[in-house]
Amino acid sequence: MIRRMRPEPLFPLFAPVTGLKGVGPRIATLLVKLGVEKVVDLLWLLPNGQIDRSYRPTVEDAEPGRIATLTVSVLDHRPGRGPRQPYRVYAGDGTGVIEIPYFNARPDWLQRTFPPGAQRIVSGRLERYGDVLQMVHPDHIADPERGESVPETEMVYPLTAGLSAKTLRTAVASALQRLPALPEWQDAAFAARERFPDWRSAVRTAHEMPGDPAAVIARRRLAYDELLASQLAVALTRRQMKRQSGRALSPRGRLVETLREALPWQLTVAQDRVLREIRADMEKPVRMLRLLQGDVGSGKTAVAWLAAAAAIDAGTQAALMVPTEVLARQHERTLSAQGAGSGIRVACLTGRDKGKARQQILDRLAAGEIDLLIGTHAIFQDGVDFRDLGLAIIDEQHRFGVHQRMLLAAKSARAAADVLVMTATPIPRTVAMTAYGDMDVSRIEERPPGRAPVDTRILSAERVDELADRLRPLLARDDRVYWICPLVEEDEQAEETRTAAAEARYRELRQQLGTQVGLVHGRMKPEDKDAALQAFARGETRLLVATTVVEVGVDVPEATVIVIEEAERFGLAQLHQLRGRVGRGSRPGTCLLLYRPPLGETARKRLQVLRDTDDGFRIAEEDFRLRGPGDLLGTRQSGVPDLKLADLEKDGDLLAAAHDDARLIVHADPELAGPRGRALRTLLYLFERDAAIRYLRSG
Ligand code: ADP
Ligand code: MG
Repeated sequence: MIRRMRPEPLFPLFAPVTGLKGVGPRIATLLVKLGVEKVVDLLWLLPNGQIDRSYRPTVEDAEPGRIATLTVSVLDHRPGRGPRQPYRVYAGDGTGVIEIPYFNARPDWLQRTFPPGAQRIVSGRLERYGDVLQMVHPDHIADPERGESVPETEMVYPLTAGLSAKTLRTAVASALQRLPALPEWQDAAFAARERFPDWRSAVRTAHEMPGDPAAVIARRRLAYDELLASQLAVALTRRQMKRQSGRALSPRGRLVETLREALPWQLTVAQDRVLREIRADMEKPVRMLRLLQGDVGSGKTAVAWLAAAAAIDAGTQAALMVPTEVLARQHERTLSAQGAGSGIRVACLTGRDKGKARQQILDRLAAGEIDLLIGTHAIFQDGVDFRDLGLAIIDEQHRFGVHQRMLLAAKSARAAADVLVMTATPIPRTVAMTAYGDMDVSRIEERPPGRAPVDTRILSAERVDELADRLRPLLARDDRVYWICPLVEEDEQAEETRTAAAEARYRELRQQLGTQVGLVHGRMKPEDKDAALQAFARGETRLLVATTVVEVGVDVPEATVIVIEEAERFGLAQLHQLRGRVGRGSRPGTCLLLYRPPLGETARKRLQVLRDTDDGFRIAEEDFRLRGPGDLLGTRQSGVPDLKLADLEKDGDLLAAAHDDARLIVHADPELAGPRGRALRTLLYLFERDAAIRYLRSG
């Protein structure tokens, strides 16, 4: 019944990029890595600015730290000895010599690109390394004899390996020619006051004149469009969910109290407070939409458990959705144990359950013979029907997108169930407003007592060999160690490379430390993963080599050390999450961040932030501040919702405005049926917030 109602003027923008000039299947594949599949995705890929390449000194005068363009003759080649050493090309201009190091480049390509004796123009950032002046991986290499040159300035787009700036510029130019005129969705008075150009001019200016003051305003307009779309989606979803009046879930007995007393420890003051907030919501006849935010290890699970007990004691069912299968099984085990004797019937449903077993769970669920269903997203799929779902808990742990969550919330809306979303993502306040603006927030801001902060150290990977020896005594006293293998950039081979790295490390460590070393990686079948984690939890293995699938959230209190290889490639928030795996019991934890030299300035600063603080909020803010543009990997993994244009640091004022604007709009024209309302529908489709308008009458 729900059809895509995308307005016709948007059609050219949602066509595949392959229709654009110069974009064939090969380029299209590369663009996918930048998140670009449709024409509109390319439009959102705004240039980060301009690079000035006009500084053209002699080698003797060249200052390190600057972007320079040098004309030099190739002197010599020196291949690296060993895999960690760079290949070096030497070149000079009579006044001095520079070194051009390449990491992981193919020697035959380097021989062809830099034939000894030939002249080359190279442009890139100069650095001093000891006494040597270096230009690591130049951005441009031109052959003046073939008439090639290096531009004085250039627009900078975020690039991916193999995609040249020129290709991207051509494709963007071709996309700009197709821009439709769209109805104005901004409030006229506001747009005039901000001096916003119309949408089409804004897109053109932002692409064609980066660096120009006009482009600054154009960008702001586009950022505001995006923020308004996101805030409007949030406001509409909230309205949709609240429209269905909820129900009062009042416990009949004392199940919550009984279970609470059965816990091996006392709730912290913060846990107790948020539990009261949640229970108060549940008892009201309105639907609960609450976000429970608490840093790693703050004890969200216990709160979820007691909230579920409240729903069950009120005669309804509860559901707990977690990001991974392994985590689902772990929760099933611990919660079944905690609820033993209370009569609570716990079951687990994941994608692994098929056929008869699955059907049996579904039947029991529909008959009301299961009180708490734990599982992956499988528990909210079609065909899974609760007899009477009272509370849906979603343990987000970074993995579910905002979009997915909204769909899910809309789905559970049918049952008018109360919704509790738990997140460990230490989101800055501004970000919280975009991602979770539809929810009331509870925060756990303290950790259970008696935990020493994890001692975090930054070490060069060159010291990896001594590590195994240092770990030996710890393993002997039954401590557990996680060993996280390097993260590789996402591509088709990523999982394969990752697995290979993990397996190689596993073999090495096993040679040194014997059978107490275990392995878990993404290629393993879920049941094997589960078995590997179980063996680790029980102490049959004590050092677990893993790709990042060390499921966020696994709880092994004996774990005291986590080693993270190539830590500089992870997002800070992700490192913080991983670090949260250790120091959960009474013994203090250690986190060893190994980096692969050379470590850049920003990368070092990022790791230092992690070393110096244990406060998830500060880490998130710092990550936000330090993460340069183009660090796609970091962005994707830090849990920040995907805003393509708006920069919440620069555009924080716009966010507040968009928030208010959206609320007013939904108040005045809830069906988006008036003239501005219809234009706003176009805006929502433009930013792919389709889910938010699904439930409106077509206007
Ligand atoms: P998270 O918020 O990261 O999901 P968990 O719920 O997994 O945290 O709790 C982390 C650890 O702290 C678990 O081992 C849990 O048993 C323990 N824990 C939770 N609450 C308390 C408490 N009030 N006192 C002591 N330990 C607690
Ligand atoms: Mg948890």
